[in-house]
Amino acid sequence: MNKYDVIIIGAGAAGLSAATTATNTGHRVLVLDMGPHPARKVAVSGGGRCNITNMAADASRYFGENPNFVRGAIARVSPVDILNWMDAHDLAYTEKAPGQYFCASNATDVVNALIKDASSADIKYNHVVKSVEKQNNEFVVGANDTTYISKSLIVASGGVSCGVHGVSDIGYKIAKYFGHKIVPVRPALCAMAIDTPAPELMGISIDCEITIGREIIHDALLFTHFGIGGPAVYRASVRDISNGLVINMCPGIDIYELLRLAKHTNGRRSISNVLSEHIPMRLARYFGGGDMRNIADIRDAELKNIADTINRLKIAGRDIRLHNLASAEIVRGGVSTDLISSKTMESKICPGLFFASEVMDVAGDLGGFNLHWAWASGRIAGNNS
Ligand SMILES: Cc1cc2nc3c(=O)[nH]c(=O)nc-3n(C[C@H](O)[C@H](O)[C@H](O)COP(=O)(O)OP(=O)(O)OC[C@H]3O[C@@H](n4cnc5c(N)ncnc54)[C@H](O)[C@@H]3O)c2cc1C
Repeated sequence: MNKYDVIIIGAGAAGLSAATTATNTGHRVLVLDMGPHPARKVAVSGGGRCNITNMAADASRYFGENPNFVRGAIARVSPVDILNWMDAHDLAYTEKAPGQYFCASNATDVVNALIKDASSADIKYNHVVKSVEKQNNEFVVGANDTTYISKSLIVASGGVSCGVHGVSDIGYKIAKYFGHKIVPVRPALCAMAIDTPAPELMGISIDCEITIGREIIHDALLFTHFGIGGPAVYRASVRDISNGLVINMCPGIDIYELLRLAKHTNGRRSISNVLSEHIPMRLARYFGGGDMRNIADIRDAELKNIADTINRLKIAGRDIRLHNLASAEIVRGGVSTDLISSKTMESKICPGLFFASEVMDVAGDLGGFNLHWAWASGRIAGNNS
């Protein structure tokens, strides 16, 4: 029989969380997933270690048209609840940075625990949902030439980044069909391409500060063959960077003062030689530009130019090119939260229709915030379906 109380599109982090709470309330639940395995993004998350949650989860770590939308969900499903869930499944975890928790073994152990929890649901893999309609207050879902019917529908089909793990835009299509607005989607938690990449710097990692408006991100930056990446850049990419950003590649050191001091106290050294005391040698040589003159012979204005590039590299918003959707960990944008209840995740204009996690216009910061949002919004959608 193809009739269920609840159909969930997507057996990812949110879909399986929703399946667990929906079956716990006694519902007959069907989960349809286009892929051959469950939770494929969870399995590769955190470099295979799954950064499950973060104690700092609050509205300030989420981005979209209405970041406050996450408040109620995080109050109901807190980071401590997620650690308790790990304990209940005998899954050890480690605190890699203050408040940032990873699975101590392997992300696939987290996937197995999710599947165990959702085992009362009927889960069908390799089932691509292509159509959804509402007839006589029931959802009619088409997948693999078969029709499935339910009273409630939870759309947990994720975003469209990192397509190698199997993604589709079905969630946006369903939302639009029922009258929801879609906030334009773009890559986030990704590297940035720059106009004048320096492939010779590839592989160098430095501690940096990136200033975006009033916020300063302090984290590692990695030079790539096409531009810049690493945690600091990933974190910048999820924020609103349309007004540009400023990178300080040597935080805490005033490079202009450093060079001027060297000029007056030890003027026979080269610029690269002075810089290499504070930044990696390859980077120092790059900024020194092969200039082997004594620093004493270089004008202050030239020193200032070099110092500004290191301490205050400005990248205008129009020059920022986020690396592609294929390599981005998540997307920014998606189904607008305007017409979704933050308490239940139910559509305010289509009763019985629920959304969970990344398909919505909610993007979390790097550090376990996205999976936290998936667990929280998924559990809530399932509970209320
Ligand atoms: C490489 C990588 C590493 C990451 N690491 C972390 C991390 O350590 N910590 C963290 O917090 N976040 C991390 N993220 C982000 C996190 O994985 C996502 O935010 C999270 O998985 C979103 O959960 P979801 O349930 O909304 O979507 P998904 O987990 O993407 O699940 C969506 C599911 O829907 C299915 N689907 C889509 N369309 C259809 C269709 N038409 N029919 C049927 N099924 C369909 C897909 O097959 C998929 O299984 C990472 C992401 C990537 C790509």
